[in-house]
Amino acid sequence: MTAAKTDAEIAAEWATETQLVHGGTLRSQFGETSEAIFLTQGFVYTCAEQAEARFKNEDPGYQYSRFANPTVSMLEERLRLLEGAEVCRVMATGMAAVNAALMSYLKTGDHVVAARAMFGSCRYIVETLCPRFGITPTLIDGRDINEWRKAVRPNTKAFFFETPANPTLDLVDIAAVSKLAKEIGALVMVDNVFATPMLQRPLHHGADVVIYSATKHIDGQGRCLGGAVLCSEKFLTDHLQDYFRQTGPSLSPFNAWVMLKSLETMPLRIAAQCANAAKVADYLAAQPGVDRVIYCGRKDHPQADIVAKQMTGGGQMIALEVAGGKDAAFRFQNALRLIKISNNLGDAKSLITHPPTTTHYRIGPAARAELGIGDGMLRLSVGLEHANDLIADVERGLAAARMA
Ligand SMILES: *Cc1c(COP(=O)(O)O)cnc(C)c1O
Repeated sequence: MTAAKTDAEIAAEWATETQLVHGGTLRSQFGETSEAIFLTQGFVYTCAEQAEARFKNEDPGYQYSRFANPTVSMLEERLRLLEGAEVCRVMATGMAAVNAALMSYLKTGDHVVAARAMFGSCRYIVETLCPRFGITPTLIDGRDINEWRKAVRPNTKAFFFETPANPTLDLVDIAAVSKLAKEIGALVMVDNVFATPMLQRPLHHGADVVIYSATKHIDGQGRCLGGAVLCSEKFLTDHLQDYFRQTGPSLSPFNAWVMLKSLETMPLRIAAQCANAAKVADYLAAQPGVDRVIYCGRKDHPQADIVAKQMTGGGQMIALEVAGGKDAAFRFQNALRLIKISNNLGDAKSLITHPPTTTHYRIGPAARAELGIGDGMLRLSVGLEHANDLIADVERGLAAARMA
């Protein structure tokens, strides 16, 4: 006789779309159709013996929502199925997730190599926070595998990078860096926000830890902050679990519920946004006054070979460089009627930002030049509006940009 399959084993056989609607669902005694929000801090025990058993980990129930909560567990299980990871822990923000993954693992005397093109707050953790605790960082050009190799030291414990990176959409070859990491016994941690779990699964290419800002495409509608770390049972047990329980970056059950419901529609949203972004990128690339369009779905992306190796779609982020520098980029933004000026991304609403004066202002002109962020660069997060309306809007922006 074969043992009956567990819910997780049954869900693992479903297609992604099915996992995202049903995966991880827990039902209370009321048999609710939609997932319930368990807004509770604590849990009651039927008797003193049950409380004792739960604290000894002999009874699998809940203890306290800083450690685990049923609504939060549902989100973790759904994300875990989606990513094909052994375990998932969700956190209050993407940065809480990045911080927990790095700081639960690294210790005094360790060395971390990171790709320079990285979200500003991630750069703070690696460049400023790590050295305070005796962890040495080396920042490199992540596009070049030789740079990773050259940066290795005897105490290198982690490779950390974002691919595609913000805002230049530079890529890192996940399989090549993971192979090098295995040779030297380091772990690979990938911030997979820009690609989304729909278009890139770093664990399948050899990475060890995947991190998300769920604030972006996982919520997808600009409402809640959240983050996630996906990893092996071993990484959770050896490093993350105690750090997570004791330092308290827990996600609110309400925010977990919003994101759980968002996941149901994520495949549809990402597919529609990718289709829109491809049309907008192609339109922009053909217009005078646009010096450069970078989009992972276009054949002229400088690393199109790596896109083909590890991504299953072009994504919804576009970088463009308008002729005329900052003034032209500002005229472009100020002429828009539909696309909103915001440093956020991954929303149903299309959003645009000028990285040199917003997200990448603080790093200064030298660091911007090093990353290839020109004064005329704009970053566009394409939403769910009709492509024709978006194209009409960027046309308005371009007409204004050209009026020197
Ligand atoms: C937004 C973002 C983060 C940080 O996430 P928060 O939810 O804002 O804390 C980290 N990495 C990347 C690539 C991001 O876009």
